Amino acid sequence: MRVIVSIILCIVLAHQAWSDDRKTETVILITIDGMRWQEVFRGVDNAFFDQQEFIAYKKHHGDFKQQYWRDSLNERRAALMPFFWGTIAQDGQLYGNRDKGSKGELGNRYHFSYPGYSEILTGIADDDRITSNDKILNPNRTILEWLNHMPENNGKVEAFGSWDVFPYIVNEKRAGVPVNAGFEAYSGSGAEVAFLNKLQTEVPSPWDTVRLDAFTMGFARAALAREKMKFLYIALGETDDFAHEGLYDQYIRAAHRSDTAIAELWAWVQSDPRYAGKTTLLITTDHGRGSDSLAAWKHHGRFPYTKEDGTQAVSDFKGDDQIWMAALGPDTPALGELSGGETVKLNQVAATAAKLLGYRFEDSHEKLEAGEPISAMIGK
Ligand SMILES: [Zn+2]
Repeated sequence: MRVIVSIILCIVLAHQAWSDDRKTETVILITIDGMRWQEVFRGVDNAFFDQQEFIAYKKHHGDFKQQYWRDSLNERRAALMPFFWGTIAQDGQLYGNRDKGSKGELGNRYHFSYPGYSEILTGIADDDRITSNDKILNPNRTILEWLNHMPENNGKVEAFGSWDVFPYIVNEKRAGVPVNAGFEAYSGSGAEVAFLNKLQTEVPSPWDTVRLDAFTMGFARAALAREKMKFLYIALGETDDFAHEGLYDQYIRAAHRSDTAIAELWAWVQSDPRYAGKTTLLITTDHGRGSDSLAAWKHHGRFPYTKEDGTQAVSDFKGDDQIWMAALGPDTPALGELSGGETVKLNQVAATAAKLLGYRFEDSHEKLEAGEPISAMIGK
């Protein structure tokens, strides 16, 4: 009996020692703007098929159905996001499938981008000061700034965003963290960066404040290749803008491209000895979208407006506070798609990333407190 007890004790202690042995040396945080959990976990919604107002290219519509529609839910979502369902669902964790009781939510009052990104990066929902998408320097300190001010991490933190407000959200100058966003040329060197910088001035963009994600991803890859990074943030934006335009097929294609770009990034990370087996990927979104009618998916956000009769009202897109999260890396147990369990919140992302890197995150707000790390993502 005593022998059996000591064997069990040895196994338990060995496991504890192993689980304290954190392997993550780099965290790559990626956001996909306004990507709904409904599409991540259910694949394309055929309620949008044959609704011509939601389709950009009528003559290609048959191809679109063929590419993304499958009768089986598991095959359908894998057709949309093959990396999420082929790799993350096998080796990592996926939170937010409300059909299975797993919930993700944001904590800020506004349900649009700046407050969402600020909540992700600073760990707090500062509803009194972060109230719009305007280009206002964030008074709160992000995890990028906090890490970059540690001597061992200085110069190993960088951000890339498709939306031109990111230099303000990160407060680039105060933080000392380079933020390449909007239509800025990237200062990095090399043939690929030169090519992308030139191409960025040559191809038309559908929007004037958001560039195409291929540039954002391309520049981010160059930063990872240049030197071993501690924390890299990549903010993709196409999904939200195509959705606001009401183009469901383009929103879906953007989501698929995001999945492909992340898959390629992950394959590259695993091919580079500086990162392979030492890098954790965290992926989430800044907000959800409406869900209670065929048109509601286009938009999100709580903001006051004046109705036709002159009275004041606040917009309400039911479900736009619902988000999802994904994690993949050497310290993250392979739990796959979560059912039930704890609700994960946007204000926990900064603390989770910090803990993966061996730190306890400290927010900069006098009264509000950052969310706690999501312990299941770290395996303890
Ligand atoms: Zn939006």
